Amino acid sequence: MAYKIVASQCTACGACEFECPNAAISTKRGTYVISPTLCTECESHFPAPQCAAVCPVADTCIPA
Ligand code: SF4
Ligand code: SF4
Repeated sequence: MAYKIVASQCTACGACEFECPNAAISTKRGTYVISPTLCTECESHFPAPQCAAVCPVADTCIPA
């Protein structure tokens, strides 16, 4: 299971990038993307997905 970023809504603010315990978030052509192979939905690190928790745009970090 992994989260994904809705590219059309991401403002590229960068808030999520350094909150990810697995370094699964990176920039790609002006937006941010989540690596589905690195994302664990924050399991064993946090009680909730941190990218979704810090993202200022609603429904932008969502389950893939
Ligand atoms: S859900 Fe957690 S592990 Fe997955 S990208 Fe977001 S912050 Fe990283
Ligand atoms: S926190 Fe949200 S808006 Fe900001 S870069 Fe991450 S996905 Fe995009």
